[in-house]
Amino acid sequence: MTPTTDFLSHLNPSQRQAVQHFCGPLLVIAGAGSGKTRALTYRIANLILKHRVDPENILAVTFTNKAAREMKERIQKLFAQQLAMQEYGQPLEGLPAHEQTSLRSHVYKTYIKNLWIGTFHSLFSRILRFDVEKYYDEKGHQWNRNFSIFDESDAQSLVKEIVTKQLNLDDKKFEPRSVRYAISNAKNQGLSPQDLEKEQPNYRGRVIAEVYSHYQDRLAVNNALDFDDLILVPVRLFQQNEQVLGYWHRRFHHILVDEYQDTNRIQYELIRLLVTNGETRKSEWDWRNRSVFVVGDADQSIYSFRMADFTILLNFQEDFGDGLLDEDTRTMVKLEENYRSRENILQAANQLIENNTQRIDKVLKPTRGAGEQIYCYKADDEIAEAEFVVNQLRSLERQYPDIKWGSFAILYRTNAQSRPFEESLVRWGIPYTIVGGLKFYDRKEIKDVLAYLRAIVNPFDTVSLLRVINTPRRGIGKATIDALVTAAQQLSLPLWEILSDETSVNTLAGRSAKGVNSFAQLIGHWQEQVDTLSPSEIVQGVMEDSGYIKDLQNQGTDESLDRLQNVQELYNAVLQFEEENEDVTLGAFLASTALTSDLDNLKEGQAAVSLLTLHASKGLEFPVVFLVGLEQGLFPNFRSLDNPDSLEEERRLCYVGITRAQELLYLTHTRERRLYGSREPAISSQFLSELPEELLAFRLPSHGSKNHSTGVLAQRSSRRSTQAGMDSVSTNQAQNWTVGDRILHKTFGIGEITHVFGSGSKISLAIKFPSLGQKIIDPKIAQLQRMD
Ligand code: ATP
Ligand code: MG
Repeated sequence: MTPTTDFLSHLNPSQRQAVQHFCGPLLVIAGAGSGKTRALTYRIANLILKHRVDPENILAVTFTNKAAREMKERIQKLFAQQLAMQEYGQPLEGLPAHEQTSLRSHVYKTYIKNLWIGTFHSLFSRILRFDVEKYYDEKGHQWNRNFSIFDESDAQSLVKEIVTKQLNLDDKKFEPRSVRYAISNAKNQGLSPQDLEKEQPNYRGRVIAEVYSHYQDRLAVNNALDFDDLILVPVRLFQQNEQVLGYWHRRFHHILVDEYQDTNRIQYELIRLLVTNGETRKSEWDWRNRSVFVVGDADQSIYSFRMADFTILLNFQEDFGDGLLDEDTRTMVKLEENYRSRENILQAANQLIENNTQRIDKVLKPTRGAGEQIYCYKADDEIAEAEFVVNQLRSLERQYPDIKWGSFAILYRTNAQSRPFEESLVRWGIPYTIVGGLKFYDRKEIKDVLAYLRAIVNPFDTVSLLRVINTPRRGIGKATIDALVTAAQQLSLPLWEILSDETSVNTLAGRSAKGVNSFAQLIGHWQEQVDTLSPSEIVQGVMEDSGYIKDLQNQGTDESLDRLQNVQELYNAVLQFEEENEDVTLGAFLASTALTSDLDNLKEGQAAVSLLTLHASKGLEFPVVFLVGLEQGLFPNFRSLDNPDSLEEERRLCYVGITRAQELLYLTHTRERRLYGSREPAISSQFLSELPEELLAFRLPSHGSKNHSTGVLAQRSSRRSTQAGMDSVSTNQAQNWTVGDRILHKTFGIGEITHVFGSGSKISLAIKFPSLGQKIIDPKIAQLQRMD
């Protein structure tokens, strides 16, 4: 294929410069919606079409699996359009349907299938499936290519077992979740258990290091890796083994990373090693036929709790580039036009983010008309908030016949906020999908079937064996299982060795022996088939032979039928996997399931409202966005209120949320909210007051009528007067509240001020009440009396 001239016409000059840049490093730095992802996508197409780069030599990192999939689709479409012009002399859409399909499938097989596009986790787990056998850790543990990927719940149960059973500690003091979090943080900083131990001055820290050490042993015994290992192990392997690094360095000539502001140190290290082959002297780098291309926006860095560090983005010029300033540099491109959002939305976002101190100022110009004002709504409580949002959805849907349910997104700070929205959507029969909520692959029945498959591929995976040894029931009791596990531990053998030995089972399992033996035969039988049958044949066979499907059918309840459908959906997922991938082994399928985020990835649909957290919304766009729960303590969240760095991160999160909207943006909050059980008065988020007032409207427009501006104006002036009123109250009350003051609250009694947020009319106070804990209170509304 040769590129036709119009290939790059969908790009502005700066984007074109980024796309056409062939070899060497390049940083694209720009605000939200400025076409960074588009530039990255076109760049891949251009490398293949214009520079004849073999798709196998390209590695592109996206932030989600969904983004990877969309990118592949876009590239496929671009190629198919090119091919249609070349071979048929007309646009793709003008061809008969069957020719379009055959062109698309040709493009898929020839180019797309061989491209490595995915998240850090999925790309590097793939590399590990080739080379993990060459890796060993500090204690000499090794893994084989059939390793299982333990998800968060697997990892937490391992930690729990170590804390309670192995170390006999109290799991209230060493809560598995927080211990696991500490281990994960250590891994994300590249620390081994020994490194962590050295860093720990106190008892708790040393215990965590000890748990970490046992945890690594247990992972190794199970031939399993956790999510963090999928990044850390490749780094260590590359550091250990020059040949392995050399191979992948030669393989990937062109490396591209989207959302570079959210990479952490370990991920950065992976990129650095692959690009440089581990050579630290810049003068030795050979950029012929090689590039590293990263795009990002420091204002959208929102994953510091996973150790993301946006200084990595800011340092790119020093690390890889020419280090020159704006006018002179040849290794950085800035994009300054926003193509996504209406001007009002963009202005609001720009103004909000200016409140952050840790940032580099940049230009982001609108290319679209002003659009409507941003609608703010204060609801009585979270139920009224959900009703408001759903009513708006319905009314917009009635007014704009072309609008689809998929045009709407509801964005919130925490997953727990989704429930009232779901209930309201269900009541009105509106289809919705929760992005990144309960993951498809986290459902019990799916985890069960996957546990069978994992045990077949990786018989060392004791966690999976134990999960299904008696599911469905085979008459194997807890005492039997304990006896088997203890025997394996005492003999330092994998559990599977005991299970698969009939004599041992007959000795240890008593009356349950029959059940254990039949389970072992089932797993053993399918192990023999793994190399000869396709994954879908194995999945189907195992589901039937294990009696799992039959058991669900026999139960005959609504719930079991639901589960049955999900299991069938899993079968569809295997079929789809076989169609789309090059490596169609069961092991590869299992890796993909461990890393897929949710059911949407199986069924893309334009037909449903999206409900998602702000964190999950990165990189996406929707015509209509509802940003809900804008309340102090919720968003910005409570923990950030006394930490300026975290508060800035919350503000970036708000910036991300606002800039997802293309046409309409709604911001909502409540007067009081039931959160985590108790009902509390709510104070509107400081972010609301940081937005330019003239862009906000407080009364709903009548969409479609051009005449709503008067209403909005009228409302706005009345708001001004109330605000002035408030200001005067607050000056009356300007009591110079300070931390440590003791106050009397009408309902809550005596408390002590622990934090003062904002000033003037925007002041709010965190007050600790002895029996109620900490609450955030607006002194302008609550009548507080100072106690002297
Ligand atoms: P984010 O920072 O949110 O990830 P981004 O910079 O990656 O945003 P894109 O998602 O690539 O931005 O683009 C935003 C929108 O603008 C998309 O709908 C895209 O198709 C459109 N777009 C990008 N570049 C252009 C262009 N040159 N002309 C017209 N539309 C464009
Ligand atoms: Mg993007």
